[in-house]
Amino acid sequence: MRYHTPTTFADAARVSAGAGGVTRFLAGGTDVLVQLRAGSVTPDDLIDVKHIPGVHDITRTADGGWKIGVAVPGIVMGRHEELSREWPGVVEGMELIGSTQVQGRATLTGNLCNGSPAADGVPALVAAGATVTVTGENGEREVAVADIPTGPGKTQLKKGEVISAITIPARGKNSADAYLRFIPRTEMDIAVVGCAVSLTVEGEKITKARVALGAVAPTVILVDAAAKAIEGTTLDDAALDKLAAAASAACKPIDDRRGTVAFRTDVAGVLAKRAARIAYDRARGAKQ
Ligand SMILES: Cc1cc2nc3c(=O)[nH]c(=O)nc-3n(C[C@H](O)[C@H](O)[C@H](O)COP(=O)(O)OP(=O)(O)OC[C@H]3O[C@@H](n4cnc5c(N)ncnc54)[C@H](O)[C@@H]3O)c2cc1C
Repeated sequence: MRYHTPTTFADAARVSAGAGGVTRFLAGGTDVLVQLRAGSVTPDDLIDVKHIPGVHDITRTADGGWKIGVAVPGIVMGRHEELSREWPGVVEGMELIGSTQVQGRATLTGNLCNGSPAADGVPALVAAGATVTVTGENGEREVAVADIPTGPGKTQLKKGEVISAITIPARGKNSADAYLRFIPRTEMDIAVVGCAVSLTVEGEKITKARVALGAVAPTVILVDAAAKAIEGTTLDDAALDKLAAAASAACKPIDDRRGTVAFRTDVAGVLAKRAARIAYDRARGAKQ
């Protein structure tokens, strides 16, 4: 195995483009090293992105959003007060990942690029309308987080491309998000269903919403019908019932030992209601 330590993303992209066999980028390594130890994926080239300046930083963008470096671990996100205040759902998704040890290494970018439909960090990013910067040999392109995963374990990244940052948009006034997942035990498990809701209120009324579901389809899905069900409402019982029905209707889950199709479909509706209530309360109480 060849281990590379590029100091720019352009170099990382170049090394990846020139690599012949199995290539992996190394962020926190909590997926890559587990797969390596298990013998399921043995990279020929391992490209460590942690030596690139800026990858450990969380910074404000010019328009008031956030840039999350590709090596920022969950624990650093959780301790970032401003980010946690503005995007509690994004942070709580990330903080649900693994144990204290895993939290010290695991990154949002790694969670996204591992391509799991059950990735806990991804639904809130999709609900937030976050984007990633993809650096390739011929420059950069900006891609919606929702468009990165293409199926279980797969992404749209081409050979020679590396994600160089995640950008979360400016939060705006009277807005908040929330992420909830269902797992069969209290921690250290994979989501059977995950749901993120991001919304904006004017007074009591929801003016804008985005609802994303994880673990109920081959990729995390954005459910427009679920958002429409609560926009223009005060999140009354009728709106919540429509939200739940729309979330459940969007599910195309698998049946496995961790959850049946019927169970996942039902839980998606329940979690959507609960996450919406939390985001709604946060948005009405939010002072920014
Ligand atoms: C004990 C344990 C518990 C876990 N619990 C959870 C959980 O509850 N929820 C959950 O969602 N996950 C969980 N995971 C999985 C894992 O921790 C997460 O997916 C984590 O966020 C991966 O991030 P990482 O930085 O460690 O990624 P890495 O292992 O470094 O990389 C993962 C993938 O991303 C690619 N990659 C990394 N950086 C880049 C980049 N800049 N550009 C392009 N591709 C890149 C790599 O090539 C690789 O394919 C758990 C893992 C362990 C070991």
